[in-house]
Amino acid sequence: NKQVVFRDYVSGFPKESDFIITSSTIRLKLPQASNAVLLKILYLSCDPYMRMLMESRSAPNSYSPGSLLHGFGVAKVLESAHSDFNEGELVWGILKWEEYSVVEEPGKLFKIHHTDVPLSYYTGILGMPGITAYFGFHDICSPKKGEYVFVSAASGAVGQLVGQLAKLMGCYVVGSAGSKEKIELLKNKFGFDEVFNYKEERDLDAALKRCFPEGIDIYFENVGGKTLDAVLLNMRPHGRIAVCGMISQYNLDQMEGVHNLLHLVLQRIRMEGFSAPDYFHLYANFLEAMLPYIKEGKIKYVEDTVHGLESGPAALIGLFSGRNIGKQVVAISTE
Ligand code: NDP
Repeated sequence: NKQVVFRDYVSGFPKESDFIITSSTIRLKLPQASNAVLLKILYLSCDPYMRMLMESRSAPNSYSPGSLLHGFGVAKVLESAHSDFNEGELVWGILKWEEYSVVEEPGKLFKIHHTDVPLSYYTGILGMPGITAYFGFHDICSPKKGEYVFVSAASGAVGQLVGQLAKLMGCYVVGSAGSKEKIELLKNKFGFDEVFNYKEERDLDAALKRCFPEGIDIYFENVGGKTLDAVLLNMRPHGRIAVCGMISQYNLDQMEGVHNLLHLVLQRIRMEGFSAPDYFHLYANFLEAMLPYIKEGKIKYVEDTVHGLESGPAALIGLFSGRNIGKQVVAISTE
């Protein structure tokens, strides 16, 4: 049973050597008196929040040095001592980074009932990032048809979905991303109206003014830092900023200062943070909305898949250099 161990707290950019690939033997018979399930891990998800758990200052939720990494994933039940779980069922939720896993309290896992889509989708469009995009956009941004929407990290797991949900609402949507290939995806696959490569713009304020001559109604914030500062200068009155994440800040010892917050007052802007688990209780409603979009081809979805647990650490740290094109998935086993 291959496993990924978190070596020690990280400062600055995480490196592959912050993780150790080990192996252990797995207990194949579960004690009958327990509520445990034995899972075979199929897919693991690389998510930016995992970086925050690599710091001692994020205690009490941070990873413990020397213990297994954990994150969202998809698995199959091989054996169950829990009355609600049966052998052969599929689940998604927080799992340890290993090939086979005993979960003592499986009650928090979501059961997968729809298997006519790729199972890896439950790490992304039908899992935590999908919930983030759907409720972050619809609930926090209060969008209206025809509004001007800007999405940063727009080709990623969350961004690509927010952009397409905004198009489905009839909004004008602009996305930024960090490479030519990503820019082409935004334009040609996801249907963004306008795009720019933030790495090639010397003046982000000018880039935003070019794309939004009338200003921005909604900013879906994924990156923070200089992008946020430039956006603040371009918000329209009564605009909304949904603070989903600030990936440009996660590896800094000290967060960059934001200089233009006064524009929140001048333009009567609502800026609000949120977290995906706030919406997990609405998962059934979310699936009802999202599954038809996928099946009818109204939302396109791009994943970036690496294979094998040993490829996981490089894929995870690649999120912070923009190596991933689309949702970063680690395929552990297909069956
Ligand atoms: P992505 O799939 O978008 O992957 C991360 C991407 O971020 C990279 O590919 C890269 O794209 C971009 N990036 C990395 N470093 C920087 C930087 N310094 N400046 C600008 N962009 C950078 O990840 P997700 O879609 O999973 O997550 C996107 C955001 O949403 C993150 O901030 C994350 O923390 C947040 N999030 C929040 C949740 C919540 O519950 N609030 C839940 C899930 C995600 P590029 O090449 O374009 O730079």
